[in-house]
Amino acid sequence: MSLQTLIPNPVQQNTLTPSEFDQYVVHSYARFPITLERGQGCRVWDSEGKEYLDFVAGIATCTLGHAHPAMVEAVNQQIQKLHHVSNLYYIPEQGELAKWLVQNSCADRAFFCNSGAEANEAAIKLARKYAHTVLNIENPIILTAQASFHGRTLATITATGQPKYQKNFNPLVPGFHYVPYNDLAAIEEAIATLDTPTRQVAAILLEGLQGEGGVRPGDRDYFKRIREICNEKGILLIMDEVQVGMGRTGCIWGYENLGIEPDIFTCAKGLGGGIPIGAMLCKSSCDIFEPGDHASTFGGNPFVCGVALAVCKTLEREHLRLNAQERGEQLREGLWAIAEDFPHLVKEVRGWGLISGMELLADADLTSVEVVKEAIAEGVLLVPAGPKVVRFVPPLIVSEAEVDIAIQAVRQAITKISEEKGLHSAQM
Ligand SMILES: *Cc1c(COP(=O)(O)O)cnc(C)c1O
Repeated sequence: MSLQTLIPNPVQQNTLTPSEFDQYVVHSYARFPITLERGQGCRVWDSEGKEYLDFVAGIATCTLGHAHPAMVEAVNQQIQKLHHVSNLYYIPEQGELAKWLVQNSCADRAFFCNSGAEANEAAIKLARKYAHTVLNIENPIILTAQASFHGRTLATITATGQPKYQKNFNPLVPGFHYVPYNDLAAIEEAIATLDTPTRQVAAILLEGLQGEGGVRPGDRDYFKRIREICNEKGILLIMDEVQVGMGRTGCIWGYENLGIEPDIFTCAKGLGGGIPIGAMLCKSSCDIFEPGDHASTFGGNPFVCGVALAVCKTLEREHLRLNAQERGEQLREGLWAIAEDFPHLVKEVRGWGLISGMELLADADLTSVEVVKEAIAEGVLLVPAGPKVVRFVPPLIVSEAEVDIAIQAVRQAITKISEEKGLHSAQM
């Protein structure tokens, strides 16, 4: 069978309108009013045939963009060979993927699940078991950061240091405590004050760069000192690599930007390039899970692992880490030029590799959602990271020309909004 016969007709018929869609789907998302039907590389097309440059990539997920030949081939091959068997048996694709991840990270072993939240759940369970059985802590505490994001399950909204994700979902899971991010004195104080005969900090869970919380990179000195404190006290350092992992920052893992190694880290989003997969990786020194401790029916099945392995190998073969570095610098340079032209609207531009944020001034009459909506009208998909930060997380295959188009669209969007709203600087 030729590849062509496996790909359905690109023009879909009978697409539900947004109001028909809302009749059948739970209203838990605020969606932009476009319906995406098809993609190729860094481009996607909506139901009206309008083309967009995709600088969202399914929220830092479509590492290889859309319909990449390596993914298409891996999906086709794996679905015809074997797609699911359960972890009652050995799965060669799972072993190969674990081997690639271990050989390309500081970890020794991997556990597979289906999402970022689940990967963090696995890390939280491992840290708690370690606290009870190795550290002998009766009531272990996991420290997390304010403005963090770790997922939407009960334990991970609790770990997430943002009240808006927790509101109305009490009672939350006990055993978490929050500290301000990048604040060394605060974390030292928390570790000291939480230290009682029965209650102690057992683990620290942090993002190397806070994604959802506003694209805020961690400080090297802060993480270096945390690593030392963890070593001194036997505390586990867990890094949430769900958004920054898999080459996005220009390094394979976000923690490499900080010059430290975690004991445990989690990944998901970019790992499968859009196929649902998550993983928790750990050093052998803290791999204390035994048969029966943790499990997932779908976790690490031949299908997702076969595809994720193709994503990993393509990342390596096409040197996408280097592309992330170069294109990221190009993007931030272009965005800084916009910031300099709109000093009354834009505060700063920051990021690592191909995760960048443009922060708007707190007192400017302009939100990230307004910029995103106008950019969509200009044909570029972007995603907010909080009310004042516009986030740029394109596929790692993005080209120099595509980055230029995105920069131009942002400039147009901000120019248009400031003309419509009369947002002129004082000196103009
Ligand atoms: C997206 C994200 C998660 C949650 O991942 P899901 O796959 O949506 O469960 C966790 N941590 C970070 C840092 C994320 O960006």
